Amino acid sequence: MGYPLSALRGLKDPFRYAPSEWGVPPLKEEARLRWCLLFPDVYEVGMSYLGFSILYWLLKSLPGVDVERAYAPWPDAEELLRRRGWPLLSVEGKRPLLEFDVVGVTLQHEMNYTNVLASLDLGGIPVLSSRRDERHPLVVAGGPGALHPEPMADFFDAFLLGDGEELLPEVSQLLLEHRPKGTDRGELLGMLSRLEGVYVPALGRRRVRRRVVADLDGAFYPDRLIVPSSPIVHDRVSVEVFRGCSRGCRFCLAGFTTRPVRERSAGRVVEISRRLLSSTGWEELGFLSLSSCDYSSLMEVLDELSPSLREMGVRVSLPSLRVDAFSLELARRLDLGRKGSLTFAPEGGTERIRDVMNKQVTDEEIRRADRGVFASGFERLKLYFMVGVPTETESDLEGIVEIAREASRAARAFGGRRSVSLSLATLVPKPHTPFQWAEALSPEESRERLLRVKRALSGLRNVQVSYHDPRLSYLEGVLCRGDREVGRAILQAYRLGARMEAWEDRFDAGIWDRAFELAGVDPLAYARGRGLDEPLPWDFVDVGVDRAFLEREWRKALEGRTTPRCGPLSCGGCGVLVCPYRRSSLP
Ligand code: SF4
Repeated sequence: MGYPLSALRGLKDPFRYAPSEWGVPPLKEEARLRWCLLFPDVYEVGMSYLGFSILYWLLKSLPGVDVERAYAPWPDAEELLRRRGWPLLSVEGKRPLLEFDVVGVTLQHEMNYTNVLASLDLGGIPVLSSRRDERHPLVVAGGPGALHPEPMADFFDAFLLGDGEELLPEVSQLLLEHRPKGTDRGELLGMLSRLEGVYVPALGRRRVRRRVVADLDGAFYPDRLIVPSSPIVHDRVSVEVFRGCSRGCRFCLAGFTTRPVRERSAGRVVEISRRLLSSTGWEELGFLSLSSCDYSSLMEVLDELSPSLREMGVRVSLPSLRVDAFSLELARRLDLGRKGSLTFAPEGGTERIRDVMNKQVTDEEIRRADRGVFASGFERLKLYFMVGVPTETESDLEGIVEIAREASRAARAFGGRRSVSLSLATLVPKPHTPFQWAEALSPEESRERLLRVKRALSGLRNVQVSYHDPRLSYLEGVLCRGDREVGRAILQAYRLGARMEAWEDRFDAGIWDRAFELAGVDPLAYARGRGLDEPLPWDFVDVGVDRAFLEREWRKALEGRTTPRCGPLSCGGCGVLVCPYRRSSLP
């Protein structure tokens, strides 16, 4: 039945709970296994997330299996549900989460972890997996957070590590065979844990290897999408052009955990784009990947698609451009100037600190890009930087100021309303990256460095500086490198009301201080730098990259030495399998 519309009146963005959508596939009455995919943020964020969509349609395509979606409620809606005693319902069939066989949650961001617990509880499912029995669905997690699972280990029955296209059909097949027969939950979990890429925390840690789709062209991709009639964050057709990244930036989780680079062929990208544009009517096409300018068939795809895109009035968007002439030429060609701004992420203020990060962008390239952006008619240049990178000194911070000043001069030289916006954040040392051993800078020290940059630029009228709350970055650093003890603090924070904290204005540092205190956990023990000989809570997760490679990269970072990007003539020897450029002998 769904929630009565009259009850939603007065909620912030009520469409989230009764969305009007086009292209929703019918429910399969004959299904013997029912999944609910839960996105632990609000509807308009979840609907913009491509991976969630791919997995939804993949499950829908499996015989005997059906799938529905659910999204976390905003705190005002949670309050309404609790007050009325209503459960959190799926979008399609308006069923409580409790009624499904499996609830699959995507862990994209640490600051969504408390939303996961709230959604399970509202769906009628105990938040602790140890309290669940045969009456409850299996609750499984995927996404990047599943690769460092320990902080959330008490809340999930299983973690699915790696590419869902590989895992979901196998997990579904096993459950189709055994769950309807009423197999004992423990036995079922035992069977699941024997599938490659599945980690069942209740059965203890053993080495688990991430699953990797070797051939993206052959992998499932939907030929339809659900089109919402209310606004969402990324209102467009998204086509993933490749997975992985050849660059090796040492702070980037995805760069190390999605190796190797696997491209979709130009023909397949063109075919998918055409089909999705004609079946949805969207007017924007986004080519997604970690660094879309690195897609080797980009020009071929654009040449092939351009005439029909022009005819349909569809524009192309390319997130994550790099600071180089090619990106600029591309932006010009795609007429992205219509949008008025271009974003580049040099990340570091000096060539030295960029070498520490393995970012490999020269000062001259940045200067050229600044001028090029304004010369091409863009009104605003957005620059992203981070502070708190190991070995950072005063001069690296001054370097950020200097780059911003030069960009400001370039903006003035071209006149008009041209301006620069500088976005600053603090490094979050992530598991499975060379910076996993680095310290997460204290919020105080971090704020001090951010403010130093901001103050130095305060006299420049055409430069706006914003920064990510350093307390949030610090907390992310603690949560992502945590163990099960940290999970106790997450549970406390949930009980104390922490919700939707990926939205900066919702973040309440006081709740987390209290949560750590109640859980008896010292966040400093997780924020500190780690020794190379210390065991790490995610050591048992094999993402495919050798630990020896990460150690080498960490040492090289501290010495300011770079590693060339992956390619036919340059393999850094990370050890990942199925990479066409793999060189077995290590340097
Ligand atoms: S095996 Fe070599 S080329 Fe392939 S991802 Fe690893 S470092 Fe890069």
